[in-house]
Amino acid sequence: MKALIKPDYGPGMHIEEVSLPEIGPDDVLIKVQAASICGSDLHMYEGASGYDWINVPLVPGHEFAGIIAEVGDPASSALLGKRVVVNPYISCGECDACYRGQTNLCDGVGSPMDKVPARSLTYGFRQDGGMAEYAAVKKSNVLFLPEECPMEIAGMLEAIGISVHAIERSSIKPGDSAVVIGPGPIGLALVTILANYGLSCLIVTGLQADEKRLKLAQTLGATDLIYADACDDVEEVRQITEGAGIDFVFETSGFAGAMNRGIKMLRKEGELLLIGITSQQTHLMTNELVRGELTIKGVYGVTRKTLKRTLDMAASGKYEFSKLITYTVPLEKVLLGFEYGKKRDGAKVIIKP
Ligand SMILES: [Zn+2]
Ligand SMILES: [Zn+2]
Repeated sequence: MKALIKPDYGPGMHIEEVSLPEIGPDDVLIKVQAASICGSDLHMYEGASGYDWINVPLVPGHEFAGIIAEVGDPASSALLGKRVVVNPYISCGECDACYRGQTNLCDGVGSPMDKVPARSLTYGFRQDGGMAEYAAVKKSNVLFLPEECPMEIAGMLEAIGISVHAIERSSIKPGDSAVVIGPGPIGLALVTILANYGLSCLIVTGLQADEKRLKLAQTLGATDLIYADACDDVEEVRQITEGAGIDFVFETSGFAGAMNRGIKMLRKEGELLLIGITSQQTHLMTNELVRGELTIKGVYGVTRKTLKRTLDMAASGKYEFSKLITYTVPLEKVLLGFEYGKKRDGAKVIIKP
């Protein structure tokens, strides 16, 4: 079969003809129908630092969906032909995080004090993922797709799930106001969902180079756009909210200064959700945090429960997730897909083997 291979920690990936993955009794073989490129895949493609924890050589791809083509246990043959989406986390089921339902934070035998990429994050990172014609995954790591959920949306469900997780971590309610910093895939998925929350305003900030993405945010339901490199973004928020400040900031950009911009945009007692990852150290404005009684929460990955909720949301047809697909490429042209992704002019690149 054809597969995309990341051979080492340096930049670059290539397509290779490899043998079909072998499956054990607890596994199923999935004929991949849709996979999507995530920011972390782009980082691996570019050979960015901070990914020494993945296992190379590797088939990347942690967001993918397909059809069960083979089962390891003959007793599971009823699963053949089922449409499924893959949960990329293999949670141990035994640690404190798992007992709390935080399967996105499961480190198995690792220490809960280590804030590292969760050791449960498996497919596309520590084991081969979905950017191939076939992928072997644990039977317990697939969710069945309702008829109403298109395969392309299932192929990016994990990314949408991170946005759902961010909203679940917040205490946002109808009538509240929100700023989404960064119009990347996660930011745009947030807008798609929050557009249905009856917010008093939903502002999206980006750079002038993000114009296409910001315009997309507007069609998805953003009420105001801010070009942060063309004006004072905090001042803009002050004006839009008539001096009140914003209730919630969802920081998805990972830019070093964005966190403090978010703190300044908030009203007293406001909430900042940090989703973007940055390799730079940032200085936190602790006095503003204390005097404003602000809340900051980190948001990382997606739990089993949230993935299921996201699937139900996708199947409901009430959210315009299909608008998040900007490019679709066949597996043979996956590298072109990565180049599209690097342009950062749209939301998601979907790969269809
Ligand atoms: Zn992802
Ligand atoms: Zn666990």
